[in-house]
Amino acid sequence: MSNPSLLILAGDGIGPEVMAEVKKIIGWFGKKRGIAFDVSEDLVGGCAYDVHGVPLADTTMAKAQAVDAVLLGAVGGPNYDKLDFSLKPERGLLRLRKEMDLYANLRPAQCFDALADFSSLKREVVAGLDVMIVRELTSGVYFGEPKEITDLGGGQKRAVDTQVYETYEIERIADVAFDLARKRSNLVHSAEKRNVMKTGVLWKEVVSQVHEREFKDVTLEHQLADSGGMQLVRNPKQFDVIVTDNLFGDLLSDIAAMLTGSLGMLASASLGEADPKTKKRKALYEPVHGSAPDIAGKGVANPIAMIASFGMALRYSFDLGAEADAIDTAIAKVLDKGLRTGDIMSAGCKQVSTAEMGSAILAELETILG
Ligand code: NAD
Repeated sequence: MSNPSLLILAGDGIGPEVMAEVKKIIGWFGKKRGIAFDVSEDLVGGCAYDVHGVPLADTTMAKAQAVDAVLLGAVGGPNYDKLDFSLKPERGLLRLRKEMDLYANLRPAQCFDALADFSSLKREVVAGLDVMIVRELTSGVYFGEPKEITDLGGGQKRAVDTQVYETYEIERIADVAFDLARKRSNLVHSAEKRNVMKTGVLWKEVVSQVHEREFKDVTLEHQLADSGGMQLVRNPKQFDVIVTDNLFGDLLSDIAAMLTGSLGMLASASLGEADPKTKKRKALYEPVHGSAPDIAGKGVANPIAMIASFGMALRYSFDLGAEADAIDTAIAKVLDKGLRTGDIMSAGCKQVSTAEMGSAILAELETILG
């Protein structure tokens, strides 16, 4: 049997710096654990534009479609700000998401004990938090037509965005959420606005049907999205998986992210349709942060979001749950020992570089997995 395949697109700015730490871990898995990946590397974003004149070459797109998972660093930077909209680095990322039809965005918000004081909420509210927001990513109000601004004359205009959802779009995202809950604490909150929106009415109906049909063992709660936001701040630990549409997911995942303190800690996964034969989903894993041009090249970026994104790939694309758990534990242990990159530095801790943080996590991993 061939090895699982991974395409690495490190991108711009701090992307290659944080990706280097993941490569150390991949190398170790191959040498010491007998878990080898067929790794290929390519360009995305500004660095792809510099070489190919486009932010994502067709050949790179084809490779992304062919592999088991894509691991992406970050794209963008001041050198590319003046480019035409269609050539901007972010278009490379959007092309990947669109052509791989990555409709499910998974944003975990995990608060490591050692960083609980970084949150704007009280330590006891967030310490140990582990919530997963599952956001529908390819439909809803960001894509619905008509989407326009009409000049009505007399200094008046009318702006229209259209929220549209079809049954199959809700079914497939609900499927991802229930499936995930089974691998976690078996609880799904579905958030919509059925009290004022027709899409909310359909959302609730379809999620309930999927639950009834295939996932009766998972507990399902329906929540109005606005009160969901309130609850997320009041008592976030009541949640396990939250499934919601594109717009509400955008808002709720950013709220959940801030509960945990720093951008440098946040991983994400975007999943597409499962292959009928292999059951594998198209998948892209990336940190939530951008290319951080202000610190790029200085060796000070926090690699934890990137390493945790690789952990998600192990869990969701390669069925290596124990190894993914070990990565999460290794990160927690390094933080418990007081090692910090600049973005999460606090009094009494030891400030380390990107490479030192990566090596410390790998050393813990070695101890955990042997
Ligand atoms: P950013 O996430 O790059 O940086 C925001 C702030 O957080 C900066 O001060 C940065 O130094 C800090 N930061 C981010 N990641 C960090 C890490 N791992 N360790 C330590 N500090 C970290 O967002 P921005 O400054 O708004 O955007 C910079 C560029 O990145 C822009 O070109 C933007 O378009 C692009 N961007 C790309 C992505 C992506 O690739 N997915 C996402 C957001 C922004």
